[in-house]
This record gives sequence, structure tokens and C-alpha cells, in this order.
Amino acid sequence: MEDTLSQSNSPHVLIFPFPVQGHVSCMLKLAELLCLSGVDVTFLNSDIIHRRLLRYTDVVSRFSCYPGFRFETISDGLPTDHPRSGNRVVDIFDSIKMVTKPMFRDMLLPGGCLNCGTRPPVTSVIADGIMCFTIDVAKEMGIPVFLFRTVSASCFWAFYCIPKLIESGDLPIKEDDEMDRLLNGVTGMENYLRLRDLPSFCRVSDLSDQGFQVVMSETQETYRANGLILNTFEDLEESALTQIRKHIPNLYAIGPLHANLKSRLEAHMSSPPRSSDSLWEEDRTCMTWLDEQAPKSVIYVSFGSMTMLNREDLIELWYGLVNSNKKFLWVIRPNSVAGDGRNIPAHLLEGTMKRGYMVRWAPQEDVLAHQAVGGFLTHSGWNSTLESIVAAVPMICWPYYADQQVNSRLVGEVWKLGFDMKDICDRVIVENVIKDLMDRKRDELTRPVDRMMKLATRSVAEGGTSYTSLNRLIEDIKTSTKDEYVF
Ligand code: UDP
Repeated sequence: MEDTLSQSNSPHVLIFPFPVQGHVSCMLKLAELLCLSGVDVTFLNSDIIHRRLLRYTDVVSRFSCYPGFRFETISDGLPTDHPRSGNRVVDIFDSIKMVTKPMFRDMLLPGGCLNCGTRPPVTSVIADGIMCFTIDVAKEMGIPVFLFRTVSASCFWAFYCIPKLIESGDLPIKEDDEMDRLLNGVTGMENYLRLRDLPSFCRVSDLSDQGFQVVMSETQETYRANGLILNTFEDLEESALTQIRKHIPNLYAIGPLHANLKSRLEAHMSSPPRSSDSLWEEDRTCMTWLDEQAPKSVIYVSFGSMTMLNREDLIELWYGLVNSNKKFLWVIRPNSVAGDGRNIPAHLLEGTMKRGYMVRWAPQEDVLAHQAVGGFLTHSGWNSTLESIVAAVPMICWPYYADQQVNSRLVGEVWKLGFDMKDICDRVIVENVIKDLMDRKRDELTRPVDRMMKLATRSVAEGGTSYTSLNRLIEDIKTSTKDEYVF
């Protein structure tokens, strides 16, 4: 039996995400898409992510209908009580490289749990593009590797251009630098990308900064993989995709992944069950609250899974929301506010009682699809941005880190799907921008928002660009064989 399995040629992909919410959820969606196409998948989670998925989601029953699917786990090398939040993300980079990398190699070696004859051998790896060490390990074993970068194509391209930005003197950032200055170094974005809009990891005065070094070197290594997968679609990011293709020709733009999965599931069954990839318990009482609100009357507020707020910003945002007189649904994740959470002004508590609803974690896709939601105050995480686009909900962007500074610029300046409030957190401005989004400037956003929703939907429908690109990826995975990997 073991011999038959180890000689089997059936495609078997190992998917290995960077262990944080946004990366795990879109790679799980890709895993399900591959399962639907008859590919065997092993999904390698960090122990802690896996425990939380088991606790808060139906992930086991969801994948139980795919006999070729299974989970494996690996340590991320950090102590259990490490917060793993955005302000400590460099710790995750570090420990993955130090602790997880050698474990990953052992798992793939003959006799390791990914290569012990109980399942068909791994025929290709889809690894998070921020973990390029997987290329070295897979190369050693003769297995092809596709990298999946979960940021926007535009951000990936900005990262790719870092050496040019250093050469032109734009980086590192100097003390007296004018942050609104347009940059020439990121080809195709010269007309709108300011110093302020570079990904947060580029906002450094010292080029030896660890986060900066990681994103620069990981991005430069991408060409060594067999292909690059991005969660985006041609009509949204054509310019960045065109630039990237000049350097990395084998590019698969297969997003929005959540819409791509929904569309393919619907082709298989009439009403696919709703599923969740949440690492926190979803509070569905907010859906009942939304049911009681008028159409497009509520602004949904969420800053994703990694953002840390300080008390000052929390209070300014809160005043802005309450003083806008709009209904609001606000996600405040546990342990996401630094400092003292007591002594909240009575005006804010009263305003929240009257017009607000707060939860610790929401079923975001369902919230955005609810007819009561008319706007999204977001940190511009890439998944959130795509989810808002598909739901045709205009955005106010208040980016925190990573690709969010680029995404918010695109939303506000290029796609005209909302307003960019980058680097500002002032109660009067927050109040005004909410009023603009929900009332005063609503009409000017409606057309671009509806148009982009339609383009997103078209891209994942049969014959659409992301649909076709996903089929090509599946074909390439099915025909990949061990030992074809040539450098
Ligand atoms: N999310 C959710 N409920 C919440 C907040 C966020 O389900 O209350 C999901 C959201 O739908 C998205 C993901 O968490 O899929 C966050 O990913 P994103 O890339 O937007 O931001 P990150 O958390 O990586 O900063």
C-alpha cells in the first residue's frame, strides 16, 4: 500500500501560510478551490492558529467532504502568550526563520510526516511569499514551489521597486522629507504614489531596519519560484500586474478569492453553507441589530486582526463616530487597545447606547453584504478591501501597516471607491469624512463602487480573468511533478 502511494502521480499540494488571520483565511479559500478541482491538499498551520480554527470555526466539517484534504501543524516558535499582533510582527518573521524553517525541512525529508508513505508524495508547494525559505527546502527535495503573496499587486510592486527607491535617494526617509512628495521610483504609479503612501515597512530612516529588510529581500527572491499567485484581478490592478509580469512572467491573478470560491461552490451546489475562517468567535448578534436598521444607514468599523489602537486614537475615532450622528457597528478586537481603557467620556457611552453596536469580532463578509451597511471605516487590509469591493460598500481608509498605506491611496485617488484618511485621526475630520461618505458625497462614489463590484464579479465568473487564471494554476499544479524543478 505504502509503495503504491509513494509512486502515485496524483497531484498533492502542500499549502503553507504565514500564521496570521489574513494570510490563513485566503489560503484556506485557495485550498478549498483546489480540493474542488480534485487536487489533494495538505494545509500546514501553526499550532496556535490551528487550535483557534478548531475552536471558532467549522473548518473540520467544512473540509470533511474533501477526502484528499488534511491539516498538519508546525510550531511558529513563539511562546503561547505572545500577542502576535501587528506591532510585534517582526518577532513572527524571526521565529519562523529560526525555529519553523528547520522543522519544515525535517517534515519534508523521507520519513518526515509529509513524506512517510501514508499519503501520495507532495508534488508541489504553495507557500506564503513572505517565507521564501520554502524555496530552498523544496528545491532540495526537487518539488516545485508557487509563492502566494497576500498583499495587493500594487504593494508587491512597490516592494519590488525598493532598490530603485534607494538608488534614487527616496529611501531611507529623511527627517525633513516632504511626505506628500510624489515618487518616480515605482513605475506606473508616478502620478499618485507619494512618500506617505509607501507600505509602512518602507517608512524607515535606517535601511537596516529589520521589517524593511525582510520585505525587501523576500520580494526580491520571488523570481526563484515557479510562479507567483496574487489575490487580485486584472481590471483592478492591471498596471501593477503588467509591471510585475515583466520580471515574474508566471503570474496568476486569481482574486477576489472569496468571490472566486463562492462562485465555484455555487456551481457545485445550489446553496453552499456559510463558513468562517475566523480566529476569534464571531458575534452574530450584530446581524440581528443590522436587521433593525434602515438600508445603507450604518457605518461598519473594523481594523482587522493585527491593528493596535492607542487610547488617543480610539477616543478621536469614537468622537467622530458619535458626533456624525450615524448608526455604527464597531469591531473592537480583544487586547487591541493599548493603555487605559477606563474613564470613557459619558458623551461617547451615551452616543454608543443610542446609535452604536460593538462586538469583539464580526462575521465581516455577512456584515458587508447586509443591506443596512452603507459604508466601511477600514484599516485597508487587502482582504477587507476586496470584501468591500465585492459588496459594493464605499470605504473610509485609516491604514495601519504593511500594504494598507498603498491600498488606501488606490481606494481614494485611483479607484475613487472612498476616502483616504491616512495619518490623520482627529474627531472633526472623522466626523466630516463619515458625513461625506454616508450622505454629502455619496452620489459621487456610487458609480465607481458599482462598476468595480461588477468587474470583480465578472472576473470570477466563467471565462473571466481570475476564473481563467485559476484554471491555469490548477492545470499547472496537476502537471507539476517532483524533480522537474530546474533553477
Ligand atoms: N474579519 C472578520 N471579522 C472581523 C474583522 C475582520 O471576519 O470582525 C476578517 C475580514 O473579513 C478579513 C480578515 O479578517 O477577511 C482581515 O484581513 P485583512 O487582510 O483585511 O486585514 P489584516 O487582519 O490582515 O490586517
